[in-house]
Amino acid sequence: QVVTRFAPSPTGFLHIGGARTALFNWLFARHHGGRTLLRIEDTDAKRSTQEAIDKILEGLDWLGLDYDEPPVYQSQRAGRHREVALTLLEAGHAYKCFATPEDLEAMRAEQRAAKQPMRYDGRWRDRDPAEAPEGAPYTVRLKTPTEGETAIDDAVQGRVTVRNAEIDDYILLRADGTPTYMLAVVVDDHDMGVTHVIRGDDHLNNAFRQLPIYHSMDAIEGGWPQPVYAHVPLIHGADGAKLSKRHGAVGVEAYRDEEGVLPEALFNYLLRLGWGHGDREEITRDEAVELFDLDGVGKSASRFDIKKLQNLNGHYIREADDARLAELVAERIGAQADRDLLTRAMPVLKPRAKQLGELAESASFLFATRPLAMTEKAEALLDDESRVRLGHVGAALRGENDWTIDPLETSIKALAERLELGLGKLAQPMRAALTGTTTSPGIFDVLVLLGKDESLARIDAQAT
Ligand code: GLU
Repeated sequence: QVVTRFAPSPTGFLHIGGARTALFNWLFARHHGGRTLLRIEDTDAKRSTQEAIDKILEGLDWLGLDYDEPPVYQSQRAGRHREVALTLLEAGHAYKCFATPEDLEAMRAEQRAAKQPMRYDGRWRDRDPAEAPEGAPYTVRLKTPTEGETAIDDAVQGRVTVRNAEIDDYILLRADGTPTYMLAVVVDDHDMGVTHVIRGDDHLNNAFRQLPIYHSMDAIEGGWPQPVYAHVPLIHGADGAKLSKRHGAVGVEAYRDEEGVLPEALFNYLLRLGWGHGDREEITRDEAVELFDLDGVGKSASRFDIKKLQNLNGHYIREADDARLAELVAERIGAQADRDLLTRAMPVLKPRAKQLGELAESASFLFATRPLAMTEKAEALLDDESRVRLGHVGAALRGENDWTIDPLETSIKALAERLELGLGKLAQPMRAALTGTTTSPGIFDVLVLLGKDESLARIDAQAT
C-alpha cells in the first residue's frame, strides 16, 4: 500500500511551494488508494512555535488536504532516533568521532588551502576509541560507502548517480546526544511506513546521504526497504529565480486573505504548477484524484504566474454557491453586510470578479449610507443636465409599484424616448447616484437590489 507524507518545518507560514508538495503527496496517496501522513519537523526549537505549527495546519485544512493519522511531531521522537544511531554504532555501521571543533576547523582550513571539497575526512573511522582521552566528548558518524556509486531511479528526475566518495561520514548524533535532521528524517519515514518520498528537488542531495542509513539498517535488522523518491522541481518567480519573498506573497495565508483566492482555485493552480494533463487548466478535486500520477510531473521548474491564478479564481468564483460567496464577502465588508441581500446580488456581481476583495468592493454600494461617497468620475458625471434628468427619473419611478426588472426597464426606456435621449444618458447619472461609481452591474439590477425606497432616496439626493 502507498504511504506518503508531508514533512514541513514550521517557519512561520505554509509556503506556496510546501503547499504544492503537500498537494502532490496527498493526491498521489488518494489516487492509489493509499494513506497520507503529516510530520511536523519541529526540531529547531527556536523557530518551531505553536503559532507557526497552527498556521501550517490551518493552511492545509483550508486547502482541503486531510491526513489519515494525527500529525507526528519529530521533536518527540528523539529517543527513537538515538536508539537507531546506537544500533548502527553497535553493529559497526557507525562510529564515535572524537575530533574537536578545533581539529575540524584545522581540517577545513587545509582543504580550503588545497582547494579540495570540504568534507569530513573519516579520521576516526578506523581508529580505536580507546585512543581518545578519558571522557572526551564524541559525535556518532555514519560509515558511508567509500567505493563505487549510488544510483537513484527518481520518479521525476529519472536515474541520478553520485560517486560514494562524495558522501562523507556525516553526524548522526551530536556531542550532546541529540540526533541530526538527516537521521531523524530516515527513522521517521521508516517508522511511519512511508513508501514514496515526494518533496522539493532541493532535497535530492539529501537522498544520497539518507540512503546509506536504510541500507545499513536493512543489513542489520531487515525490514528497511528504501522508499521511492520523487524530487519535484522548485517553483520559480517570473524572473526565473527560486520563488521567495522578493517576488511578493509566498504564504498560502496571504493568497487567502490578501489576494482573496478560493481554496479550490489555489488547489487547481498548485496542481497545474508542475503537473499537467494535456492542456487542461480547470481540473476539479475529484478529477485530480482520478488523474494524478508522478509521470505527469515535469522535470523543469515551473513559474508562478499570478495572472493564471487570478483567472482560475475568477472561474471558481463564478462556479461557487452564492450563499457561500455572500458569507466570504460579508466577512470582508464587516458588520453592515446583509447576507441575504449579498446572496441575491451574487448572480450579477460575480461574473466579473477575480478576487474576493474585488467582489466585496463591487458589493459595497449595497450597504453605503447616504449621502453616498462619490468617486471623482461619478462626481464629474453629475452635472446640471444630469441632475435635471435624475429629477425626471425619480418622478417616473415613484409611481412604479412592481419593482422588478421588466417594468422598471419599460418605464425608463419610455422616459428616454419622451426626452428624446439615448438610454445611456439616463443610465449613467442613475448609476452615479445609486452606486457612487461609474461601473456597476446593469442599472435595473441595481434598482431591484436596492429596493424602491433606497433607490428613490439616492436618486432624489442628486436630482434637481
Ligand atoms: N522538513 C523539510 C522541509 O521543510 C522536508 C524534509 C523532507 O521532505 O524530507 O524542507
